[in-house]
Amino acid sequence: MSPKFSTCIKIIQRYTVKMTKQSYDVVVIGGGHAGCEAAAASARIGVDTALFTHKIETIGEMSCNPAIGGLGKGHLVREIDALDGVMGVVADKSGIQFRLLNRSRGPAVQGPRTQSDRALYKEHMQKILRNYKNLTVVADPVIKFLFDDNEKKVIGFLCQSGKEIRCKQLILTTGTFLNGLIHIGETQIPAGRFDEKPSTGLSEQLAKHDMKIGRLKTGTPPRLDGNTINYDELEMQPADDDPYYFSFLTNKIENKQIKCGMTYTNDEVHKIISKNISKSAMYSGNIKGVGPRYCPSIEDKIVKFKEKQKHQIFLEPEGLKDNTIYPNGISTSLPEDVQLQILAKIKGLEQVKMKRAGYAIEYDYVDPRELNSTLETKKIKSLFLAGQINGTTGYEEAAAQGLIAGINAALKVKNKGEFVLDRSDSYIGVMIDDLITKGVTEPYRMFTSRAEYRLSLRADNADQRLTPLGIKINLVSVNRKKLFLSKQKKLISLIDELKNYKISPNAAAKHNIKMSMDGVKRTALHVLGLKNIKMSNLRSIWSDIPHYGQHIDNQVEIDAHYSGYLVRQTHDIAAFKKDEGIAIPNDINYQSFSGLSNEIKSKLSSVRPKTLGQALRIDGVTPAAAIILLSHIKKLKYKVTA
Ligand code: FAD
Repeated sequence: MSPKFSTCIKIIQRYTVKMTKQSYDVVVIGGGHAGCEAAAASARIGVDTALFTHKIETIGEMSCNPAIGGLGKGHLVREIDALDGVMGVVADKSGIQFRLLNRSRGPAVQGPRTQSDRALYKEHMQKILRNYKNLTVVADPVIKFLFDDNEKKVIGFLCQSGKEIRCKQLILTTGTFLNGLIHIGETQIPAGRFDEKPSTGLSEQLAKHDMKIGRLKTGTPPRLDGNTINYDELEMQPADDDPYYFSFLTNKIENKQIKCGMTYTNDEVHKIISKNISKSAMYSGNIKGVGPRYCPSIEDKIVKFKEKQKHQIFLEPEGLKDNTIYPNGISTSLPEDVQLQILAKIKGLEQVKMKRAGYAIEYDYVDPRELNSTLETKKIKSLFLAGQINGTTGYEEAAAQGLIAGINAALKVKNKGEFVLDRSDSYIGVMIDDLITKGVTEPYRMFTSRAEYRLSLRADNADQRLTPLGIKINLVSVNRKKLFLSKQKKLISLIDELKNYKISPNAAAKHNIKMSMDGVKRTALHVLGLKNIKMSNLRSIWSDIPHYGQHIDNQVEIDAHYSGYLVRQTHDIAAFKKDEGIAIPNDINYQSFSGLSNEIKSKLSSVRPKTLGQALRIDGVTPAAAIILLSHIKKLKYKVTA
């Protein structure tokens, strides 16, 4: 038997053994961004994990724009990577136009972004998942949950094939598929996304268990044939010369980097849209769900920003070997013929061929206030939800939730404690706290402005904030742990060294470095914290400062520049942690409390905050109400841990 043939047999045997299994520790339903991250995290913790999805070939599918990262979103990807997640590595392997957004502003608000080759993204995601030995991937849609006799706990599910699968913990990551309905003008097509069937029956079962279900919507632009675009007179946007990677493990970009064309809408386009606005599914009253305010359709832009003469459109190639163009900025649910009329009036697109019409999609989501901070539901034990199903929008938001759900489901199997991030340690913590405390009124997306402690929650230091937490729960691979510890050693060593070099104000002035002329000598570390001083300035004074690599220099530079602000932020974080440390027992009866309005009692009963800090973040809960709440907790002799 040839070695190639015997390898094939082994793979088939492994697959067949796995396929016949009827029970797993953790099962993830859905092979989107939340599902991939959840399955990988659960497998990394070391439990027997399975991923059930519609089709193997759509695992890692980018349903909308072929891009990862951006403002706030890029931070999430770096944090996922710091916890050894898969999105950052896959984004680096499939990136075809890396750009650091807000480059001219401080590192706290810079956003790493890349355009991705859609096919490569899926390919690398599927490859990474195949490498997890304790992860089985099955193409069999789930049609029904199975509950225990009390109907309080999920114990498995029924597949379309008729198979019943049992599991200890279940993670649902079905994205836009729950009762998904596509709208193109008057046309309505039941679908999870283009050309894919929706999932029916599952949200009805959740609703029967008293979970609050709502309806949201999102949309996508038409897809264009790149060969029919006239780029001659269009502005072109190149990639950065020095790509900012998503993964702390990446040190080289493999793919050719491409340019994007830029064009604009104009008065003629706006007139066509205004004339046909009643034909747009959104404005005809056909769509009930609320869409993402920060990612509006072109119809919304024309109606809401009447004063704007033009709107920018980025012509983003979907891949290196794919001539499809994603015109970022004109998502629409207008009829196909109107979409064609609009395109013909846009510079560069006069002769363009439309490969596929843009559309809007409505889908069911679960009110995220139904969830604990581990993303397990409050009403159904052992059921976790992650991704778009929780009212968010975006691949990065979905993946970050998948990671947390996957970790916690696996830790639960192992009878280990919960893994919860808070607002002071990560954007992931900010997002989950926002979701479970405030719920959503529109699809939730991440922004740097959502984080109170953004000076410390930077994309550059995500590993320092989170990798040690990942190491503690055995989530992080040996290789990453080794690289991280080595980096830490170098950082500490360089910082210590910089404390040994000293310079007087007079000597510094000779190097054009301005400081108070008080005769006091300052350390090189102090000098590095001064405005516009870089490691290269220090090296021109002290040539023997050790050099451990550019990335170590950059990190020490950024930390030194922020050090003054961070001292103040440390006090704010300490105050935050104090409120977070005051635990509120789960079984507390808010209705029996005097002094609180019925509205506040009802909000507290519905969210069931775990801490006084979380209670204070619920809309409408005033500091005065928090004081009453605290006095009740103390009176009831509940344990106060702070
Ligand atoms: P998805 O990526 O949707 O993955 C869901 C997975 O679950 C799929 O693999 C599916 O096959 C599987 N599945 C579903 N039901 C079952 C079942 N019963 N059994 C087994 N498997 C099942 N985001 C933005 O940030 N900006 C945008 O402009 C934007 N526009 C969008 C436009 C459209 C038309 C769509 C569809 C999405 C858009 N998104 C946008 C959202 C983005 O695609 C999602 O946020 C992201 O994909 C969510 O990831 P997820 O893992 O939660 O779900």
